[in-house]
Amino acid sequence: MPKPPRQMQLSPATRAAQALHYVNPAHGAVVPGIEPASTFARDSDYAPMGRAVYSRDGGPTVDQAEAVLADLDAAAQSLLFTSGMSAIVALFETLRTGDHVVCPEVGYHGTITWLHRLVELRGIRATFFDATKDGALEAAMEPGTKLVWIETPTNPNWDVIDIAEAARIAHAGGARLAVDCTVTPPCTTRALELGADVAFHSATKYLNGHSDLTGGVLALREEGVFADELRLVRTLHGTVMPAFEAWLLIRGLRTLYLRFERASESALAIARHFEGHPKLAGVLYPGLPSHPRHEIAARQMQGGFGGMLSLMAQSRKAAHHIATHCNVFIPATSLGGVESLIEHRIAVEGPHSVVAPELLRLSIGIEAVADLIADLEQALEGAP
Ligand SMILES: *Cc1c(COP(=O)(O)O)cnc(C)c1O
Repeated sequence: MPKPPRQMQLSPATRAAQALHYVNPAHGAVVPGIEPASTFARDSDYAPMGRAVYSRDGGPTVDQAEAVLADLDAAAQSLLFTSGMSAIVALFETLRTGDHVVCPEVGYHGTITWLHRLVELRGIRATFFDATKDGALEAAMEPGTKLVWIETPTNPNWDVIDIAEAARIAHAGGARLAVDCTVTPPCTTRALELGADVAFHSATKYLNGHSDLTGGVLALREEGVFADELRLVRTLHGTVMPAFEAWLLIRGLRTLYLRFERASESALAIARHFEGHPKLAGVLYPGLPSHPRHEIAARQMQGGFGGMLSLMAQSRKAAHHIATHCNVFIPATSLGGVESLIEHRIAVEGPHSVVAPELLRLSIGIEAVADLIADLEQALEGAP
């Protein structure tokens, strides 16, 4: 593959748009092909002809996608999984019985559910801390803490956790720091550069951006025993991303910067428009100067505050009304796609949810922002 001249310091946005200046060396195609083979032939010495041997370990298309992702995160290595959750499960699989994990109380419900299961069935110990309280993360540390897992901004309240500070605390206690960066893709936050050991992304969300695949990424600061163990777990679980999804992801990543910039601009406009609205009890968005940790967010989200925000309706009934009376926003779960979504979060998470019943989670896409504002206004108008 032709590489751009060495002396050129290209910005990550350029490298993402060109999928690392991809040109096929055999015929010049500017887009990589899909290699769906499950097995790979050997040469006359019976040595593998390339990196791949069998598709459960990975393959050329996954390698290509991982190269682009590692570049975006400034990672030594990125590993792609069939879903965000399978990446999280692989990471937690590296814990030993008796190890202690620290994790925010409110966060992505799949992660929290999985951790509770490990505590019940596998002898992992966990402390859940209140991410809105200063000093709570440090107080949750114990001598046996092996993993500090954080999410920032935390889903769906969008509390902000200082990644650099969390890294200092984790490392002082001899633990690794892993950051769920799903809402803050590398075009705005490069967690590894802020001190994290692992940056996790659900590739289902912003990285792909088109709501047409599920995938997960673990971006690792270092090669070595830990990276090898994660790769082995992925092979044995059979959770490597398939070639077609990896190919779609490479395509999605080309527009990551553009999509995220637009979503961030529109989300900020929406947050400003609805802050103080008479039919709402509040707007949760780290990009608003009124957000309690706006300054930390501004420091660690340099490419925009993203497209995720929550509106607090005046009651559960009002929230239900708004979620069911939008004509532009689509009432569906997930986030980070080009189409805007609205979720009555408690209805999605179910009876064990700790989310406020009046919370509406919005994922802002790339539509005309005036249409999005007008849609919410008309839904609010009829709200009880
Ligand atoms: C979606 C999501 C996950 C899980 O990813 P899947 O691709 O759905 O398995 C984890 N964390 C956050 C913050 C998410 O939004």
